[in-house]
Amino acid sequence: MIDIQQPIMARDDSSYLPVFRRYKIVLDHGEGAYLYDMTGKRYVDFLAGIAVNVLGYNYKPLVKAISEQAAKIIHVSNLYYTEPQATAAAKLVKLSGLDRAFFANSGAEANEGAIKVARKYAHQFDADKSQIITAWDSFHGRTLATLTATGQPKYHKGFEPLPAGFDYVHYNDLAELEEKISDKTCAVMLETIQGEGGVYPPQNDYLKKVRELCDRHGALLIFDEIQAGIGRSGKFFAYEKYGVKPDIVTLAKGLAGGVPIGAFICTEKVAQALHPGDHGTTFGGNPLACAAANVVLDTVPTEKFLSHVEETGAYFKGKLIELQQKYPDQISEIRGEGLILGAQLSNPKKSGGEIVSECMERGAIINCTAGTVLRFIPPLIIERQHVDEVINILDAVLSA
Ligand SMILES: *Cc1c(COP(=O)(O)O)cnc(C)c1O
Repeated sequence: MIDIQQPIMARDDSSYLPVFRRYKIVLDHGEGAYLYDMTGKRYVDFLAGIAVNVLGYNYKPLVKAISEQAAKIIHVSNLYYTEPQATAAAKLVKLSGLDRAFFANSGAEANEGAIKVARKYAHQFDADKSQIITAWDSFHGRTLATLTATGQPKYHKGFEPLPAGFDYVHYNDLAELEEKISDKTCAVMLETIQGEGGVYPPQNDYLKKVRELCDRHGALLIFDEIQAGIGRSGKFFAYEKYGVKPDIVTLAKGLAGGVPIGAFICTEKVAQALHPGDHGTTFGGNPLACAAANVVLDTVPTEKFLSHVEETGAYFKGKLIELQQKYPDQISEIRGEGLILGAQLSNPKKSGGEIVSECMERGAIINCTAGTVLRFIPPLIIERQHVDEVINILDAVLSA
């Protein structure tokens, strides 16, 4: 039988920049928590386009809002007001408890903006107050500044010279931060829960103590919630879980349910460091992206939706712990909150990559990050039946 996907993969392989090692399927459409490839094969999706598709596929109110907005105006530039952007900004300000939002097109751009505003703010007081401290194993994006902020040397290699002024500490190591932070520190930038680096939540009031250190040295605290935000932790912002408020928070991924968008939200004090012309974007926050974001912002931050995430996440974590107890020689730890969960592999019979591929063959899309961590970041609308489906497939793969 001829696979209709073959010529498409061949065309892509010969035309697209070779930076992704793609799985050998061509995805065509989706419904709820399921994806379908061009042969009609169904997959339960526990990756959600990397924590993006929070409302799943073909979510009717999202499709309707995008279609209606597309028929009105897709884009106008930021030289004019539009209702969807004003509404989305006001919603983010209200939800965050911060004062001002800016829209970009991606996570990297949101973080780039956060770094820029932090530098501009600090330079009002001291031209040398420019150090940005981030964490090892963090992920903040692929532009030169956010790549440098990303504490993973493997991503830096070959792209030097990198922007100056970045320094790194181990996540959850307060003593090390206490040693590195000084009055020359402009900002500390951390993921509220580390995602790409292997799903590491903060331990023992770490973030609260980071907040205190920042305040002592007049440094801003930036939380990158591009992966852990938008309800994924069980709270709309993961920082609500830990009782710590940042000066700047960044969002992207799930914010518009799959339409490209990024945002940073900051306090008035920080925002006042920027004046007209100091920062900008052509596409960022256009009416199409904001119309999509408004559906997410009306849906996710409700008590019912967030308690669904919390409950489904707890059920899923319980099932993963049972799996760990069944295969203690292959899984050493289950980490995470809500629907950002990780299973640490230890001496597995199969590599993380092999486990992911075999799950895919059996109809489940999962991910392996940091080499040895199975990462689960499904659409937030999944039900227990979807969890059971993935757990059964994982069980079969681990036992085989
Ligand atoms: C994905 C991610 C980014 C980068 O987002 P892009 O949209 O790919 O630029 C930044 N920070 C975190 C925590 C992420 O997970």
